[in-house]
Amino acid sequence: MASQERQLPTPNTKGYECVLLIASDTDAAAKVLGELGSVTEERFLVEWVTELSRGIERLSDGGVGAAVLDLNLPDGKGVETFDKLFQAAPGVPILILSEADTEQEARQAVQRGAQDYLLKEQADGYRLRRTVRTMMDRWAAQAVCRENALATITLDLIGEGVVRTDICGNVTYLNGFAERMTGWFREEALGRPVADVLRLIDSASGADLSNVAVIVTQGDKSAIATTRCTNCTLVRRDGLEFGIENRVAIIHDQDGDAIGAVISFRDVSTARAASLEMSRAGQHDVLTQLPNRTLFDDRLTQAISLAERQKKQLGVLFVDIDQFKRINDTLGHGVGDKLLRSVAGRLTACIRRTDTVSRLGGDEFLILLSQVEHEEDAAVTARKILRAIASPHIIDNKSLDINVSIGGSTYPADGQDAESLIRQADVAMYEAKQGGRNSYLSFRRDMTTRLAQRVLLEADLRYALGRNQFLLHYQPKINLQTGQVAGMEALIRWQHPERGMLFPSTFVPIAEECGLILHIGQWVLVEACRQALEWSNSGFGVVPISVNVSAVEFQSKDFLSGVRAALIATGMEPQNLELELTETVLMQDAESAVVTLSALRAMGVRLAIDDFGTGYSSFTYLRRFPVDTLKVGQSFVQEITADPEGSTLVGAMISIGKSLKQRVIAVGVETASQLDFLQRHGCGEGQGSYFSHPVVPEQAARLFKSGVQEGMVREMHPS
Ligand code: C2E
Ligand code: MG
Repeated sequence: MASQERQLPTPNTKGYECVLLIASDTDAAAKVLGELGSVTEERFLVEWVTELSRGIERLSDGGVGAAVLDLNLPDGKGVETFDKLFQAAPGVPILILSEADTEQEARQAVQRGAQDYLLKEQADGYRLRRTVRTMMDRWAAQAVCRENALATITLDLIGEGVVRTDICGNVTYLNGFAERMTGWFREEALGRPVADVLRLIDSASGADLSNVAVIVTQGDKSAIATTRCTNCTLVRRDGLEFGIENRVAIIHDQDGDAIGAVISFRDVSTARAASLEMSRAGQHDVLTQLPNRTLFDDRLTQAISLAERQKKQLGVLFVDIDQFKRINDTLGHGVGDKLLRSVAGRLTACIRRTDTVSRLGGDEFLILLSQVEHEEDAAVTARKILRAIASPHIIDNKSLDINVSIGGSTYPADGQDAESLIRQADVAMYEAKQGGRNSYLSFRRDMTTRLAQRVLLEADLRYALGRNQFLLHYQPKINLQTGQVAGMEALIRWQHPERGMLFPSTFVPIAEECGLILHIGQWVLVEACRQALEWSNSGFGVVPISVNVSAVEFQSKDFLSGVRAALIATGMEPQNLELELTETVLMQDAESAVVTLSALRAMGVRLAIDDFGTGYSSFTYLRRFPVDTLKVGQSFVQEITADPEGSTLVGAMISIGKSLKQRVIAVGVETASQLDFLQRHGCGEGQGSYFSHPVVPEQAARLFKSGVQEGMVREMHPS
């Protein structure tokens, strides 16, 4: 049978529509081939197969516009034949060829999707051609409808809004997304001006952009700018706003004339909010939410330009929390963080809305004062800040007292740009810290010189220990009753190669700040113990030695082991070593001071409170600190003659020491009358230039032999 299958017409198939005839009845097939395949205006190209399987195969190759199917085939019978073919090629219209007695089956096939049927005896040329033609045309029209329906469904499903308008800017279509975004249903929106349905504004300027479609289609000059807008806001019918990006494209007809526009847009609210958040995060400090240095620099630079144009001044304050590290170290970073937030809040409360507070990092804050008429204005704000910060901060049910040091600079007097204004404020803050903290200083030129010298000194200090530039001087402590040398206090000196002999006030604070004091202090301990033993070995008997300990050393975790190591290394008896600690050092964290002091006590080392009276120890702690000695600060001793009230104070301090069963040593005794007063009040020991200045070890050795000034001894013991 297959040999009978054929194609018509053969020579020129271009422009013909292919019809596949599937029939095994050769008479019927010949008839169809003759009618359809004859050269007519219909121009069909008929291919013929005799089996269903071959038909399915051919249809799967594509290019067939319609199929004519005889339900009676060698490999298919009745309506099932149709079902199989329809299933294999649902996109091809099928015409059933049927015998008169199987018309019922043909009808069933039509119900199941066949386009039409023809009885074989009625399939004359005209009717056959017309039926096939009508079937194909109808199929094509239905295909367009199906495509349109699919396009509509697709448009409704995409995550972009689509609105179409006619040339007058009236809405002719909007998809599901656009319905949701605009709040208008399609039926209501159709025919309305697009500006009513799609209310657009420029997100930055707030300008109305609703007429974009009209502007574009009517060739307005601003068309180029409005065809694509990345910074638009869509106002929904209920007033809710969405950030969108939209595009407008013109629709042209076949002649190239504009007939309308398509506006497509997508919701970028989330992306825009995320990018805003990112840029905010990039410009703000995570902990306090204050502007960070980048944003501060920006604002300061802008403020400078404005001040320059308006011939005005502005101020910069550099704020640094005093001894913040101590809080972090003793109470933990969690408390430290909360304290920083509390400080940030108070700083913000102290300034005007037009000013900026920024956290620079750590415990440093910068403030831009944009409205400064006089230099005094900055000082007023600074004082307000000092007061605000000083009132207790309640953190985790604990009351914390802190202070800040503030430095200020003013534009244009102290600097012309952001960087130099911040630097000068920093220099002034540093000076305020050196001057005793909790204060404000405005920038002065000489501060820079001092700071530069300090920086140089710090650099030299790093090499001083390795180059043996430190030495110890010793000042005797005199028993005020016997006149005997009761011990020596070791006082460090720095033999600087260029600057000569330097005293501790010049370099100890720097060494404390950069941490070098830990190494220097350990050297002092070992050297002082070694010297004391050398004197003992030289026959001067036991020489009790005292060594000054700074806050940084005392709070170091290695302090106790360092003391132990010094004692072991030198063989010094612990009871001959006295450590001098100032009240301020002990009170910084009184509870842990009690622990450390007790550990030292357990080691056998003696302890003294230096500069007693200059800090503010509480009596409770004075009793709890296991100390042996109170050293009355020299400022009090010097008041003895000048101010009777001061004298009373020294008297009181001596009594306190006695009542606590502690040795009392008066420091800075310079005159006979001071000595007299001290003796009369029963002060145990004295130290000062009246007896001897601090001296080199050789001179100190001579003092053991000769005793202190002859006259003084005589004065103390009138015979
Ligand atoms: P300080 O412990 O109160 O030492 C007494 C200071 O008073 C010494 O100053 C001493 O020279 C001075 N002085 C003694 N008698 C008189 C007097 O009659 N009149 C006057 N006006 N002053 C007198 P220096 O040696 O300059 O030491 C100053 C401070 O430096 C010491 O005060 C101490 O706190 C600290 N220091 C000294 N050596 C060391 C050390 O090795 N380590 C540490 N951490 N600090 C040290
Ligand atoms: Mg001392």
